Amino acid sequence: MESLTNSEMDRIERWAVATEFDRLLSFFESKPPHFIIPRPVLIGSKHREDFYVKGHVSCLAMARIVVRELDEPYNPVFERSIVRTIPASTVRKEPRQAFNDAIRHGRKGLGVCLAATSGNCSGKIVRAHTIQRAVMARHADAGHVYHLDTITEHKTLNLIHKVGVVKATTFPGFCNFHDTALFAPIENLPFMATAEQFHRFHLRAAAQALFDRKYWAVGVRSEIIRRDPGQAKTHEGAIGASQADSPEAEREFLSCLKAVREGDFSVIDTRCWIGNTAPSIMGSELFAPRKDFCGKLVQNPKARSHAWVSLTITEVNRSTLVLLSGRKNCPVFTALADSLEKVGMRGRSQAVASYALCQLCNMIILPAWHKSLSEWHRKTLSTMMRSQYFPRAEFPSVPQWNLRKASANDFKT
Ligand SMILES: [Zn+2]
Repeated sequence: MESLTNSEMDRIERWAVATEFDRLLSFFESKPPHFIIPRPVLIGSKHREDFYVKGHVSCLAMARIVVRELDEPYNPVFERSIVRTIPASTVRKEPRQAFNDAIRHGRKGLGVCLAATSGNCSGKIVRAHTIQRAVMARHADAGHVYHLDTITEHKTLNLIHKVGVVKATTFPGFCNFHDTALFAPIENLPFMATAEQFHRFHLRAAAQALFDRKYWAVGVRSEIIRRDPGQAKTHEGAIGASQADSPEAEREFLSCLKAVREGDFSVIDTRCWIGNTAPSIMGSELFAPRKDFCGKLVQNPKARSHAWVSLTITEVNRSTLVLLSGRKNCPVFTALADSLEKVGMRGRSQAVASYALCQLCNMIILPAWHKSLSEWHRKTLSTMMRSQYFPRAEFPSVPQWNLRKASANDFKT
């Protein structure tokens, strides 16, 4: 197994002190799936202590440490340090089959309707699309688009896989009745940029976020206990991490659902951009932003509570539509939306695509753009999507969508 050289370890320590996460990640992504760090190497600070890593590491594990654990910027205050030594026994040559199977099956059949408290559930749980199936289908290649599978374990490094439009961006979180009733204003009516439609897009993103954080973990955990009880503890880290902020996603979803019941769509503010060409990616996600579109920090990810926003990239009238929604008067939302204004039309498509693909999960790549990428670009894109860090310098270029700020007048017929 390859060991890092002294000069490589020196370089890592220089990047660590300068908080050059992009360079650190690109370096680890260029290494084989597993490699050895022979001496404790400083990779940054964590809770204001110097943080060192040594041992048998993987690119994925290093990316997780950099993105989720380190202080940004580098900020050691105490003359103390943490050394994490990763033993050889953690190296896995084969994907964990029981884990993968549990992931695949754990998402099905939980029988949960997220809107059950509103009453009138029809009982049958359906696969709710977060991006309209018909919109995706127009761009699909033999019924398929592409997504990144970050959760199940693979042997290869290219994690961009084909997915059928029947399945893409779906989650089994609503009964038939509520899926139809809650999203009829965006599924069945033409897009008119009304406050009500904006609200429903945000609600759907919130529902998906809540489902994936809360119920997905419940399903996977019970599948693991059924399939591989001896390994339940080993898998717990990956599952537990996904649940950490589920109370915040739940709060956002429930308050949006309440607003729908009361017909009050004034709690959510939305900024809307429209292009004049078809999108290259699509997706919709609720998240707690860490950076704005220019790469500037907008909130501390390690804070106790966070502001949440939703980003939706879809298509209307054969043009790319980008929606950014958050609480009215929320400074984090305003900073994020203002930063996208500031980027200017020429750089806006690139900013939106790299922001979404480098940090969010519920995103798909459309075949036309995928086809135009070289093998090297696909691999680069795949590793960037997996590392989940923004901004990245070498992000492949996306086609120009010519996004400009839109208002309700743009959609009047
Ligand atoms: Zn229901």
